[in-house]
Amino acid sequence: MRLRYPIITVLIVACVITAIVLNVVLFRPRDTTIQALFQGTNAYAHIEALTNIGPRVAGGSNEKAAAEYIRNQMESFGLTVEIQEFPATYFDDLGSTLEVVGGATLSPNTLHYSPSGNVTADIVECGLGYPTDFAPEVAGSIALIRRGELYLWQKTQNAAAAGALAAVIYNNEPGNFLATLTFTTSISAVSISLEDGTLLLDLIEAAPVTVHLSVETMTSESTSQNVIGTLEGTDLTQGIIYLGAHYDSVSVGTGANDDASGVSAMLEAARVLSTQLNRTKVTLKFIAFGAEEIGLDGSEYYITEKVAEVQDRGLGMINLDMIAVGETLLIGNIGSASSSLVDYTRSLATTMGISWQSFTAEARSDHAPFEAESVPSVFLHQWPDPWTHTSEDTLDKISITTLETNGELATATMYDWALTHP
Ligand SMILES: [Zn+2]
Repeated sequence: MRLRYPIITVLIVACVITAIVLNVVLFRPRDTTIQALFQGTNAYAHIEALTNIGPRVAGGSNEKAAAEYIRNQMESFGLTVEIQEFPATYFDDLGSTLEVVGGATLSPNTLHYSPSGNVTADIVECGLGYPTDFAPEVAGSIALIRRGELYLWQKTQNAAAAGALAAVIYNNEPGNFLATLTFTTSISAVSISLEDGTLLLDLIEAAPVTVHLSVETMTSESTSQNVIGTLEGTDLTQGIIYLGAHYDSVSVGTGANDDASGVSAMLEAARVLSTQLNRTKVTLKFIAFGAEEIGLDGSEYYITEKVAEVQDRGLGMINLDMIAVGETLLIGNIGSASSSLVDYTRSLATTMGISWQSFTAEARSDHAPFEAESVPSVFLHQWPDPWTHTSEDTLDKISITTLETNGELATATMYDWALTHP
């Protein structure tokens, strides 16, 4: 049966439909469902899977197993995945011993990246290890240094500069600790407990103390890899936005916050953005960097291999490193390239009701090589995390709420930044 409508009704209906279509097309509000799709529990499950593998040391088999996990996840979201291999130095701790000659046997931990060494010498108290803390007699001796204030590598290198043969760093709270020097220092270094440190200090106060320190470590040439997941844009003449995080960890712990947290949010963002009906014109790349902890090797290799891509098409780089422990979200970059993406992320965070603080990031994570190529970059980093680079950086420290909030911000930033280009 055909129905006949008065022409005026048809016109009104046509106008209303046109207005709705125009409104949707021209004045479409920002799609707030993007961040709503991000699930903190999904991200948390990735952290659990990565930490279950164990410490993911650059160049080691656990790092490779983690890369496989990330590849499988990315492929399950429909991303095109490339494994980009590169050379990396693998570090192995074969154990260390420390004994007072004619006296007590102590229980040292090798500090990660310490070179091997076998030294018998007097041990000398050297405060916190500032350059002014070293008396002349440190030359040819072993430096006994208290933990705190300076990085462990700074204390060790300051001791080496003062002529010490090795460094023994005692804890500033009860018990011993496991930690990394971040890179190979010129003299051996171990950690001991506050109790062992106090024992040595008491002995030194009474008379000169000779100790024997042995450290055995091994380094070997190996390979690490970046896992690169690509969500191709609908217009390949458009640029690329990168979302990155490193999946390797230090040897002494499972790196739940540093940086399984960043990788987990990156993966959840990839899932969310791959299932969106409105795929962006811009290409989105999700990169899990290997070998960050030994000197940003993964991100630097990526830039070396893809410098033309990054320079020609790089519209933005969002780096997530340690985003799920601590009270305060820091948003910033090094300040050497455009602040456009930093400004954008900060204003988006405010719009989303997320409290944040600005900071000037150091070149100590994977945003640095991108920023050096003038890609607008932003670094999201939750602070403070007292367990960084220790055995205590574990799953139970992760705040799912914080992880979800920061993951939502990263996802929305990537998506919205893509919609602003072109
Ligand atoms: Zn990290």
